[in-house]
Amino acid sequence: MTLSFDVVAAAAGSALGVSWRPRPPAPEVRADVDQVRAAFVATAARLTELADAARADGADEPADILAAQALMAGDATFVEDVVRRMGGGAAPTSVLVREVAERHAAVLDSLDSDVLRGRAADVRQIGRMVVDELAGTRRVAPDGAFVLVDEEVTAPDLLEHADRLVGAVSVRGGVNSHAAIVARSLGVPLVVQAPSPVLDVADGTLLLVDADVRRLVVSPDQDAQAEARAVAADRAAEAAADRELQALPAETVDGTLVTLLANVASGVEARRGVEAGCDGFGLVRTELAFLTARAWPTRTDHEGQLAAVLAPAGALPVTVRLLDFTNDKKPPFADAPSLGLAGLLEHPWALDAQLTALVAVGSDVDLRVLVPMVTGPGQVRAVRERLAYAAGQLGAVPPPVGAMVETPEAVAAAPAVAAESDFLSIGTNDLTAAVLGLERTDPSFATAMTLHPTVLGGVEATVRAAAAAGVPMSVCGDAAADPQVLPVLIGAGVRSVSVSPSRLAAVRRLVRAVRLSDCVEQFERARTAESSAPTASPVRLGHAS
Ligand code: PEP
Ligand code: MG
Repeated sequence: MTLSFDVVAAAAGSALGVSWRPRPPAPEVRADVDQVRAAFVATAARLTELADAARADGADEPADILAAQALMAGDATFVEDVVRRMGGGAAPTSVLVREVAERHAAVLDSLDSDVLRGRAADVRQIGRMVVDELAGTRRVAPDGAFVLVDEEVTAPDLLEHADRLVGAVSVRGGVNSHAAIVARSLGVPLVVQAPSPVLDVADGTLLLVDADVRRLVVSPDQDAQAEARAVAADRAAEAAADRELQALPAETVDGTLVTLLANVASGVEARRGVEAGCDGFGLVRTELAFLTARAWPTRTDHEGQLAAVLAPAGALPVTVRLLDFTNDKKPPFADAPSLGLAGLLEHPWALDAQLTALVAVGSDVDLRVLVPMVTGPGQVRAVRERLAYAAGQLGAVPPPVGAMVETPEAVAAAPAVAAESDFLSIGTNDLTAAVLGLERTDPSFATAMTLHPTVLGGVEATVRAAAAAGVPMSVCGDAAADPQVLPVLIGAGVRSVSVSPSRLAAVRRLVRAVRLSDCVEQFERARTAESSAPTASPVRLGHAS
């Protein structure tokens, strides 16, 4: 019988395959203290092994996640908490392990951070892996392609079965979990918050996992199967067309070239960007690797992260942004309120650690340094001074310094900011939200809102300021990949955009389909429209025009 469920999409795509549960329900087990300690050691070893294999495959982000989980599994607090409770002897050991994992996870769950709540899943997962070790319930995966189904799908399970996995279904978990990050990185569709009856579906049952329409279908009928196969065939044809397109320049029908850069934060994304034919990295987000850090990253921390991201760049230009712990990207530091650029400037040792690492690791690439959340030229000057100092210490030439224009203040001061900068990059995500008085995390926030006349006025002012100062400028916010917005940006004079690697092919195709004169017309119409996006009350941008 066909059953259909609403689910939450954690990694895009759709897949048709037979179900397989890596750990079916098993009887509770009892173990002694030595066996428990050995199970934790074995779990940490298995995670390290998977991390090493992922790293060898070039999957740096998943490798980092697994290495961090291996550290958690090896952490004495976890195992000793279990051992302490074993004294009573009443409850089976597997129950104690799950209880301790749940207690540790509940602390993370209660924190006011999506990212940390996502980490709670890692703790539960380690608990399950330890129980697997104690009970010997790990199973051998089927030979053919399958859809992994579990109470809480884990990052190690996804990686371990990556070669035959076509999709995954999880009853628990959210879109920020490590499993979700790994699924996106592997390109495996993952749906979460599936109803628990899916755990009763027998192995080998046909499932249709459609993250794109947020549906899970158990035993789909012939029509649904045929449709899913047709979608898969279309995707494969599209991917083949993208590969051909990649060799062609991003040039409008009437010959205006647009530089296509990639936004990256990990080695995997950097490689995907290069594979998709990007002209360089327009935005390397450095803060994402440190969102769970407990203190400002050290020079060594930065060097480790940067080396993985910069390795695929070769001779391409690479723009690395300084730590931007703002809005929804705040780590749990004690001094969290003063993060962001202001925080970095208030903690000179933290700034120096990143700048020194950049100069050291970036000596082999065409490096530029980008300053986030700039509100005035003084901040660019301050970073330039510290960068000159860091470069001097290492006997290197300081790389160029640019400013992100993503605050109303930066737009208002655009000519002065441009004069102090070697290049500019517009962050439409923050700029649009700030101008329209919205939170970035507001569900109603959409990239098309960048079409609001006030935001476009900010883009226009920045284009003019860059031209007057004779410095290059790019747009690195997500609106640059929005098919509604990109032609308007080109019409405003933007000639370089930086987008997520997964959007490079679509953006190249779009640029090659538009005509500059039409783009200019679209820009002028949007710029002078009454209002082209639903908004609260937009702030005024006091730019000189
Ligand atoms: C932006 O604000 O548009 C941007 C590119 O930076 P982030 O999304 O990392 O804040
Ligand atoms: Mg931003």
